[in-house]
This record gives sequence, C-alpha cells and structure tokens, in this order.
Amino acid sequence: MINHLITQKNWQTQLSEAITSVDELLSILKLESLRATVYIPEHFELRVPRDFVAKMIIGDSNDPLLRQVLPDQKEQVSVTGYVTDPLSENTQNPIKGLLHKYQSRVLLTITGACAIHCRYCFRQHFDYSANMPTADAKDNIIHYISENPEVNEVILSGGDPLNVTNRRLFAWLDTLESIPQLTTIRLHTRLPVVMPARLDTELLERLSQSRCRIVMVIHCNHANEIDTTTAEYLQRARVAGVTLLNQAVLLKGINDDVETQVQLSERLFASGVLPYYLHVLDKVAGAAHFDHDLQASIRLYWSLLAQLPGYLVPKLVRELPDKPFKMPIDIYNNA
Ligand SMILES: *Cc1c(COP(=O)(O)O)cnc(C)c1O
Ligand code: SF4
Repeated sequence: MINHLITQKNWQTQLSEAITSVDELLSILKLESLRATVYIPEHFELRVPRDFVAKMIIGDSNDPLLRQVLPDQKEQVSVTGYVTDPLSENTQNPIKGLLHKYQSRVLLTITGACAIHCRYCFRQHFDYSANMPTADAKDNIIHYISENPEVNEVILSGGDPLNVTNRRLFAWLDTLESIPQLTTIRLHTRLPVVMPARLDTELLERLSQSRCRIVMVIHCNHANEIDTTTAEYLQRARVAGVTLLNQAVLLKGINDDVETQVQLSERLFASGVLPYYLHVLDKVAGAAHFDHDLQASIRLYWSLLAQLPGYLVPKLVRELPDKPFKMPIDIYNNA
C-alpha cells in the first residue's frame, strides 16, 4: 500500500497561502532589483505556491521557475499574430464546460482556477465564468457522451482539475465511471509539481480503485521543478496504478536548450514519468517573449533524438484550432 510520507502542510492551506505579492516574492528571492521590470495585468495576476518558490534559486534573476511566474513588462507588448484565444476554444463548446475537438476524447473544464499562474498560459484570457459546467452539467455531459459512442476517454482539465476538493473531484469520477463506454479518465494537471502534497493518500487511494484506467499528464517544464519530495509523490502515484506522462511547453530562455531538455526527460523518468508532448508555444497575447524560433526548435529536437532513448523523446507538436489532433511539427521540411 501507499507509504506515509513526511508530513507537510495540508494542500488547501498551501493553496490559500500562495504568494500573490510581487514584493514578497522578490524579497524571498533577494531580487528586489527586479521590481522595475514587473508589470501585472489585471486579468492575470501573480500567483505561486510556496512549495514552488522553494525550488527557485535565491538571487538568480534568470531562474527558470521564476521566469515562468514573474509578470513582466514585456507582456504589455502587443505583437501581430498573438491573440487572446489562439485555439478558438470559445467557439468549440458544444455544451458548457465540454470541449470535443478530437474524435475519441472529450475535455471537461471542471474549474477555472489554477494554483499557479504561468505567464505563457494560453488560457489566460479565457472566460471561464461563461464556460463552467452549470448545475445540470453532469446530466448534459452524460447525455452528450452517450450520443457520441466514439468517445472512450474523458480528460479533466481547467484551470487545474486537482484544484478542487477531493469531494468534488470524486463526484466527477463517480459520474464518469458510471458511463459504460468510458475506459480511461485523464487528468491534465500542474499541481503534482507545483504543490506535490496535493497527491494525498485519499486521492491516490480513490484513483487506485477506479474501474477506469487513470492517466495523469503533469505539466513540468524544467528538471528543477522535480525535487526529491516531488519525485517521491510521483512515485506514489505510480504505485497507485496511475499512468504518468508529462507535457511541456518549449519556452525561450527557460528550457530552449538541449541540455535542459535532456535533463528534464531524465529527471521525469527517474520519477516514474514518461515525456509525452513538447508543445511549441500557443500564440497567446502577452506571451510573445516566450516564443522560441521554429528553426531553432527543430534543430534542438534533432539533438534530442540523437541524445535520448526513443521513449524519452516527447512528440514535438503544435495545437491548431482546425486540426483533429495535435499537429506534429514537420522536422524534415523545416530543417
Ligand atoms: C489536447 C487536447 C486533447 C487531448 O489530446 P491528446 O492528443 O489525446 O493528448 C483533447 N481535447 C482537447 C480539446 C485538447 O486540447
Ligand atoms: S497551470 Fe496550466 S492552465 Fe493554469 S495557468 Fe499554468 S499553464 Fe495555465
């Protein structure tokens, strides 16, 4: 059974104690001099849990974890081609809270909230309040899925689906498990790396008892996000029968070099996680400064192919609004 781990602060306490003050964050990291580079847009403020801050290097203004969360003046720059809804998701909801873009799987937005605000997030302008499942959502969703027999997998997303209480999450699991055609339930979540204590015993036991296969796609962009404690929690999830995959975003100045990507894949594997996708940045307004040149990304990818075993090379993809799958980047004709 699942081992008991070092007692840490309850995850909900950690959630409520997340840092939202730029001054506090910079003071903890002894980087007060960065204050002048910060700009905080009203729609998407600073938010970062203390467990994640603890993995940052004090005094390093280019720390790859800090750079993912520190709001920057560059976000104000408006760049042609970078828009508020790059995937046109606002127009793809057959019912509130449900996205059906790809044949065999539907995605449910069960909360708009995230424990962390990632500055490159493609959903940073998304109007969650207009798209949350309403009170009768569960009935509508069950009905929709049964009318679409090709659906065999439901993806819980958000926001972050682990941002809700176990009680609410388990109610969703109960509902989904009652739909006979579903074989797989997938969670797309950044919480296992941002606040690993979220993988509490109650959650892991519930997941281990599911009649469906459980897949957890964590979102980890850099090896520094996985310290020993995080790795232990991930291993516990694996012991509980959860298939663990990772998706990362290729981010300029954060993980855009070969060594960083190799370390990420190796650290993931050492923690029981296989790389799944490496996404080229979605062209969302305010994030242009994270976009890495496509030719350089492809060169980096060829190096990964050369340096890593095949099972540690993620698929390099781009998400496009009108495609029935995540588009593989053409690494031959662009090389
Ligand atoms: C990414 C995504 C999926 C899952 O795609 P996979 O290729 O199966 O990982 C499903 N639905 C939507 C809307 C998505 O954006
Ligand atoms: S956790 Fe995911 S959805 Fe939430 S802000 Fe970060 S990238 Fe966006």
